[in-house]
Amino acid sequence: MYEGAIQDLIDELGRLPGVGPKSAQRIAFHVLSADPADVNRLATALRKVKELVRFCTTCFNVAESEQCRVCRDPRRTNEVLCVVEEPKDVVAIERTGEFRGRYHVLGGAINPLEGIGPDNLRIRELMGRLADGTVTEVILATDPNIEGDATAAYLSRNLAVMDLRVTRLASGLPVGGDLEYADEVTLGRAFAGRRNAGD
Ligand SMILES: [Zn+2]
Repeated sequence: MYEGAIQDLIDELGRLPGVGPKSAQRIAFHVLSADPADVNRLATALRKVKELVRFCTTCFNVAESEQCRVCRDPRRTNEVLCVVEEPKDVVAIERTGEFRGRYHVLGGAINPLEGIGPDNLRIRELMGRLADGTVTEVILATDPNIEGDATAAYLSRNLAVMDLRVTRLASGLPVGGDLEYADEVTLGRAFAGRRNAGD
């Protein structure tokens, strides 16, 4: 244990996901010995992300204004909506170049062990967006793991009563992982080969 500022930094770093006590200590001492200009840039980036970045009021993707770049793009179709867990999944799918519709970011997946149920996700907002009948296809692009599958199954049950096509990505994605771990070609292929949910 150290005293004062260096221990405060180690404590804060240790609260970050994936950073254990040893890494926190290593990063803290790296910062201590780093060029002040580099440290300032890091501090500015940390502050700015909280100041400038917020969630799109329509799809809950990250945005720097009321709406995200995808929602503001008039060339995209409003008829197809792709449901993902996190903003990073939007990036992964955009990279494939296969999708020209809109997104809906749930903010996670159903995970009973962590106490995350449907009410903790932006499912009510999703239903609200589907209410006017503009959307004719919903693509469930949750992660290929237990939580993602449970979320897709829940949504597909709830969407079955609505007059729209519900699809899921084709198999072939690395099972158990995140959508973002799939390479562009594999994810693009899974997207193009999507099938009706429940088939
Ligand atoms: Zn948006």
